[in-house]
Amino acid sequence: MARIRQADVDEVKARTNIADIVGERVALKSAGVGSMKGLCPFHDERSPSFHVRPQVGYYHCFGCGESGDVYSFLRAMDHLTFTESVERLAGRIGYTLHYEDGGSAPETSGRTRLYQASTAAAEYFRSQLASAEAEAGRRFLGERGFDAGAAAHFGIGYAPKGWNNMRDALRAQGFSDEELATAGLVSQGQRGVYDRFRGRVVWPIRDLTGQTIGFGARKLYDDDQGPKYLNTPETPIYKKAQVLYGLDLSKKDISRSHRVVVVEGYTDVMACHLAGITTAIATCGTAFGSDHISVLRRVMGDDSASGEVIFTFDPDAAGQKAALRAFADEKRFAAQTYVAVAPDGLDPCDLRLNRGDGAVRALMDAKAPMFEFVIDQKLAGFDLASVEGRVGALRAAAPIVAEIRDSSLRPGYTRVLARKLGMDLGEVTPAVERAARGSR
Ligand SMILES: [Zn+2]
Repeated sequence: MARIRQADVDEVKARTNIADIVGERVALKSAGVGSMKGLCPFHDERSPSFHVRPQVGYYHCFGCGESGDVYSFLRAMDHLTFTESVERLAGRIGYTLHYEDGGSAPETSGRTRLYQASTAAAEYFRSQLASAEAEAGRRFLGERGFDAGAAAHFGIGYAPKGWNNMRDALRAQGFSDEELATAGLVSQGQRGVYDRFRGRVVWPIRDLTGQTIGFGARKLYDDDQGPKYLNTPETPIYKKAQVLYGLDLSKKDISRSHRVVVVEGYTDVMACHLAGITTAIATCGTAFGSDHISVLRRVMGDDSASGEVIFTFDPDAAGQKAALRAFADEKRFAAQTYVAVAPDGLDPCDLRLNRGDGAVRALMDAKAPMFEFVIDQKLAGFDLASVEGRVGALRAAAPIVAEIRDSSLRPGYTRVLARKLGMDLGEVTPAVERAARGSR
């Protein structure tokens, strides 16, 4: 592979502010003259020990010892090669690189090609949304309250029904079948590769820096035997455990407000943003997990209890399970966690459609602390009219109150629990204290 001229490597580095590159992934705040700090992306921490010094182009973590310049940051963070790191940053500032063997064309290989293929596919799908065949796709969006402007804002597209449309369009742009397969855009059949997404509305999924890395696709036609939602499989650039839909659009507001809203689907993210809740994100075809929390905490700059994480869940059984799972991870946030459940079992998309933007904003304002929501979930399984039911419910709910991180909140929630159970504080307090001792 041709080497990039050292003078160019130095020039691109000199023209790039490392704080901008790090800041795309980690919320940074001032840490004295010439220094900024944030939560380390290389290890899990509660308070920031990751320092960036823009003037010297250098980062260092006092917690885990990781350090280096902007190229080593991209290599460690995005798993790029050195050449790819330089090419990425040169492309960002429109700088033409020169190679040792005299060539000037970038040696685009590996990940760079996967990003390019994903971007080309997103463009292709987007252009298809205007086609005659995409009528069903436009209707799907229209019925959910999304007009052409909304579709354009989120880059939504349409994947045609045939087997080879996107494949042929990208082949014509010079992408090989192997590149398309590695990017998760096509599947391997007996007679070559064919389009993974067919006859579907397609949402491009972008990483924190705004690069398209994959897709979520909703089926439109009854004769489609596939799942309702189909996503890009795991690829070198698409890791579903870390990907959050909408994070590229909401990153700035999340980091400014230290607030994030976690919803369940692509259309919910759209509805929230259009209603003015511009901090909404969703997981893509997987449950909200600990890797998602790590990504969010860095973007939020989550190092104090002043932040807010609001989960919206469907009130159905699956939503309740999701809520309990989120609660199990709740302690990983420094921020306060809340749950917002819409009236009449509506998700944010339906809520906006039926009752308007104001109702979506009101839903977020009507959030309840996550402990209270989980206590209610626990109590729902017991007959509180009977002594046996109340004793069982107390035993099930006491550990929730005992686990509340902020000890100053515990007495208040003990009273809340006692009131919900219709029991004396004198009975409930010892149960909570016992549960606290048991968990320690
Ligand atoms: Zn670290």
